[in-house]
Amino acid sequence: MKPFAYQRAEAADSAVATVARAGAAFLAGGTNIVDLMKLGVTAPDLLIDVTGLPLRDIEALPDGGMRVGALTANCDLAIDPVLRTRFPAVALALLSGASAQLRNRATVGGNLMQRTRCRYFVDVTKPCNKRQPGAGCAALDGEHRDLAIMGAGNGTDRPARQPLCIATNPSDLAVALALVDAQIELLTANGPATMSVHEFFRLPGDRPERDTNLPPGALITAVVLPATPIARMSTYRKVRDRSSFAFAAGSVAAALDVRDGIVRDVRLAYGAVAHRPWRAYAAERLLRGQAATVDSFERAADEELAAARPLRDNAYKVPLIRNLTVGVLRGMTEASW
Ligand code: SF4
Repeated sequence: MKPFAYQRAEAADSAVATVARAGAAFLAGGTNIVDLMKLGVTAPDLLIDVTGLPLRDIEALPDGGMRVGALTANCDLAIDPVLRTRFPAVALALLSGASAQLRNRATVGGNLMQRTRCRYFVDVTKPCNKRQPGAGCAALDGEHRDLAIMGAGNGTDRPARQPLCIATNPSDLAVALALVDAQIELLTANGPATMSVHEFFRLPGDRPERDTNLPPGALITAVVLPATPIARMSTYRKVRDRSSFAFAAGSVAAALDVRDGIVRDVRLAYGAVAHRPWRAYAAERLLRGQAATVDSFERAADEELAAARPLRDNAYKVPLIRNLTVGVLRGMTEASW
């Protein structure tokens, strides 16, 4: 590993000012960045350890929302009784991530900053546009079973050339945050700022080296879950190659309000299908006001997945997400009878 300097942050504003220096990076739980440093994927000259900052509070807001400090450990948030009541999909997503040991160490803010697990991104001997813009993408003709089927520019939106990156976002938490329209609080060099989770994550487009739209040097200070009554009836289901300590092959977060057999409201978000958590707006639009039946759920999933452009080895994700969508919504409908 390349030698680097280490500093403990005394205050958030001075940490942001220090990390503005070229080659500096924040260190929180370290469950991703340290691995990437060992592999030579990233090589900061200076790590600013922010774990001593007072950003660990979990607040139940009086309006029904929650505010979670960015340094809250994933395990602490997952077992919070208010979260489990108001936002069960968020709790389930947290519990489905990584292993107990990693959830104990990893933080909420760090979870949103984790990088793709594309095998070529972490192999510095292989071409990767995300690691080295312009180098090419080894995954297109290589191992892409785990990678994106949507939003990479493969197909309809840029038919003239291949996508630059088909990486997926690895976070389970991010999918549940997309479901509830979470807000992300930041401290930037110009002061505090807020971004919605939908602004925060991005598709690769022509800048695959950028995972998020986080302003350079900004520190995530908190995540706000806005009051969302439908989220009390929400869930998260993840499919993976083994039952623990594995990234998703596909996942679905869902919230559903069914009355008298009719879908009054619904929210759906997909994981492991794109460079960002994928909110399934087309499926939601189709379902609202429809009978809560398997036929409606199938048509809604098909509507959303019409945008999928799978490659040679990841076409299985289309029926996987379709079946997950139908299975989750059907289970929630039966639970509400
Ligand atoms: Fe790199 Fe993205 Fe291609 Fe993976 S999919 S090799 S991260 S450019």
